[in-house]
Formats: sequence, structure tokens, C-alpha cells
Amino acid sequence: MNYTAIQELQSSLKGQLLLPENENYEQARQLWNGAVKHKPAVIILPETVEDVQAAINFATAQQLPFSVRGGGHDWAGRSLNEGGVVINLQKLKNIYIDPAEKVAIVQGGITGAELIAAAEPHGLVAVTGSIGVVGFTGLTLGGGYGPLSPSFGLAVDNVLSAEIVLADGSVITASETEHADLFWAIRGGGGNFGVVVSMTVRLHTVRPLLTGLIMFPWSEAETVFKAYARIMPTAPDELALFAGMMHTPDGNPAMFLNPVWYGDEAKGEEQMSALKQLGNPFMVQVAPMKYSDLLGMFDAHVVNGLHYTAQTRSLAELDDDAIAAIIKSVAEVTSPLSLINIHHFHGAPSRVPLNSTAFGLRKSHFMMEFISAYAPEDVANDAAHRQWAHNLSASVSKQAIPGGYPNILGPDEHEQIAQSYGTNLTKLQQIKHQYDPTNLFKGISIPR
Ligand SMILES: Cc1cc2nc3c(=O)[nH]c(=O)nc-3n(C[C@H](O)[C@H](O)[C@H](O)COP(=O)(O)OP(=O)(O)OC[C@H]3O[C@@H](n4cnc5c(N)ncnc54)[C@H](O)[C@@H]3O)c2cc1C
Repeated sequence: MNYTAIQELQSSLKGQLLLPENENYEQARQLWNGAVKHKPAVIILPETVEDVQAAINFATAQQLPFSVRGGGHDWAGRSLNEGGVVINLQKLKNIYIDPAEKVAIVQGGITGAELIAAAEPHGLVAVTGSIGVVGFTGLTLGGGYGPLSPSFGLAVDNVLSAEIVLADGSVITASETEHADLFWAIRGGGGNFGVVVSMTVRLHTVRPLLTGLIMFPWSEAETVFKAYARIMPTAPDELALFAGMMHTPDGNPAMFLNPVWYGDEAKGEEQMSALKQLGNPFMVQVAPMKYSDLLGMFDAHVVNGLHYTAQTRSLAELDDDAIAAIIKSVAEVTSPLSLINIHHFHGAPSRVPLNSTAFGLRKSHFMMEFISAYAPEDVANDAAHRQWAHNLSASVSKQAIPGGYPNILGPDEHEQIAQSYGTNLTKLQQIKHQYDPTNLFKGISIPR
């Protein structure tokens, strides 16, 4: 490590530079997945675009590994590296709302919850993921499925432009009219092309929102999943229905439905009452709610520092075999902290032309996440926990659309990542070579 170069960098920064011996280093290194232990040599907390440029130039000159940390929720820990330079965006959190134009200009370090907290007082919302604490830029660059997606598209379909620091340290704006190729690529291609220091995103006028949680005993899961599979392919744009398996505090698995109705209240009441009747729920909490409250609904299940492994598959249909595989896997689950999550993709994002952004799957589908979660102390059973998610993924692979959701595909899932971009892959690879020829930015591992 060149300490003179570090001192020079430090003196040029408005933000902070942290070395392992510094007080805030450990905090700046923490990720959602406690299993990721990498220790970068230097963590930089930029406060300006110039700080980001200086950090990139430093990493390049010193030939050090390099990564960008947004919200720190990539389960595979790609925002951290061993012995290199990390740009942690936690100080880049400015949000400017233009209520007249219905747009927000957001810096790269914000979370979905922070964007909504700024937009809601203006009667506006944005498309975010389902969980508020996840990094907004990281989620958006890889796609961004969320409760408002059926109404307004993926998070990435709402990006109007982005300010990006490239591998050579230059700063550019990417939009439909400037660097249009790069703008195409960042909408689905992940953090592969530069540091996105800010984005301009479309906002939407707040409508009545009816949402909550309906929990069924696991003995009814098969029946309720079959109904879910039947309902979703023709669901209206106003309905998002996040479903899956989690454990109740007494340690038993349960099936959850998290419906979100975004539109006419009377029609929403009808939909909710139909959903409650899919079985005999032991808990129903459905009510009009603010979008900000919806984003906090699962906070108790988003525990920082547990060990996580995730697998993902996308299915055009949730057929009986896939449902049987889910039921079988829950009988074999190795940890009461593990989860199965299913988002259904329909409505607005399915009407976006496939070749208009890099995101590679625009047909109606069920996006499934299999998340093994376990306590750090349970390291002796690490392999068994990981295997559970892998087994479930393998058992639905025959029914799955080739590929998967790139944001969840791990760095070793080369085949699935390539397939997930489908006919967009070649163009994505060309743009990667053009803008980042040395592969400085290692987000979703696009095959080269
Ligand atoms: C609890 C939880 C809930 C989730 N819910 C959803 C959901 O509802 N919908 C959904 O679509 N996905 C969801 N995800 C997946 C999520 O989209 C990805 O994990 C995403 O990568 C998280 O982004 P982050 O910024 O928090 O993570 P990080 O680990 O900080 O970053 C993820 C990747 O993006 C890159 N990156 C981040 N910010 C920037 C930037 N400004 N410029 C360049 N590159 C950047 C990083 O380098 C890294 O490669 C969820 C994940 C978790 C853990």
C-alpha cells in the first residue's frame, strides 16, 4: 500500500477516507449479509462528485480491487472487496423533489424509504422495492420489482437520466439523448459501467393504497399457492401481490400474502375480501396505508448481520409441480429464518419493449427468491443451509424461464446471468467493453 498516495488522496477529499485502524471503518464495512467478511484497505465516503473521481483515479493508479457500496443489500456482497478500495455512498444522500415536473433528483446513496419520505409530503411516490432500507440505486440499476411496478413499471423504467463517473474518471450524463447506449445499459445492467452519483426519476401522484398482510397456516399453502397461481396472470395493474413463506415467532412456517391495491378503494375492498377467502387465514391486517408505512412492514424480517444465501428463478407459470417443490422444500427447511418470496411481474413493465432497456425479461412471470438465513453462530451447518436454497432452485429449474433476476443471481451463476439478458446480452457486452474495458466495475457479472 502506497501511504504517500493515500495521504495525497485524503488531503484532496471533501469526504472521509477510512483505514482499518480508524474508528468508523467497521461501521462503513458492514453489509446486510454478515457472512461477507472482506476487509478493504481503504474505504472512501465521498461527499462530492470530485471525491468519487479522485477515488476511482486512485484505485486505477494503484491497481487495487475496487467496488461501490450503495445500500449494502446485495446478498453476495459485491459492494465490498478484499484489500482494495471501496467507495461507500452513505454520505451522498441529497434528494431534490420537483413537484411541478413530478421528478426527483436523488444521489446514489439513498434508500427507497428516504426517497419516499421526501416525495410523500408533496403527494408523490416513486417505484421502489418492497423493503424501504434497500439501496435505491443498487436495486434500480438491476431492475427493481416493487409494489407499484404493475402500475408504473420496474424502478428502472422510471429513470429519466443518470450522472455517472466512468472508469477513466470522467463525468457524463446518460439519458435518451446523451450517451443513449449507456443509458440503455444501466437500465438493467447493474453497477457495471460507472458510479451512478445521481439519477433523475419519475414520480407519480399518490392514490389510495390498500395493503397489509394475510397469513395462512402452512397446511393451506398448497391451496392458496394454487389460487395465487391462477389469479395473477390476469391480475389488473392496480394489484401487486407479494407472496411466500416465512416463519411465525413460534417457529412454524406460514404462507403470507402481501397484497397492494393502488387505485379505486371500493374495487380494492372487493379484491382484499376475495384474497382473505382463499383459505382460513390466522391473521388478517389489511387497511388503507401510506406507501412509507408499507415499505416498513417487513423491517422485523430484514435482519442485518445474519448469514444469507439466495437463489432465484423466474417462472412463466406457477404450476402444480413448482408448488409441490415449494411444499417439499419447506418440510426440509434447515432454519426458521429462511424465506421464500415471490413477486409477480405483470402490467406496466410487461408493456415496455424488450429492446428498449437492457432488462431482459418483459413477459408476465413469477420472480421467486429462495433465501437461506441463519444465525452467524450456526456456522457448522453453513453448507446445509446453503444447500437448501440450491435444492429448491434446482427443483423448479425445469419449469423456469432460462435466466433469472440479475440482482439476485450470485457471481458464480454465469449461465443464468447470460440467459437473463436474452437477446439483449450482445449489446450489453459491447457497451461494457466500450465504457469499462478493464472491468473496474464488477457488479452483476455479465459474461465478457
Ligand atoms: C431485504 C432485501 C429486500 C429486497 N427487496 C427487493 C425488492 O423488493 N425488489 C427488488 O427488485 N430487489 C430487491 N432486493 C434485491 C436488491 O435489489 C439487490 O440486493 C440490490 O443489489 C441492492 O442494492 P444495494 O445498493 O442495497 O446493495 P449494494 O450491495 O450496496 O450494491 C449492490 C450492487 O449495486 C452496485 N451499486 C450500488 N449503488 C451503486 C451506484 N450508485 N453506482 C454504481 N453501482 C452501484 C454495487 O456496486 C453492487 O454491485 C432486496 C434485497 C434485500 C436484501
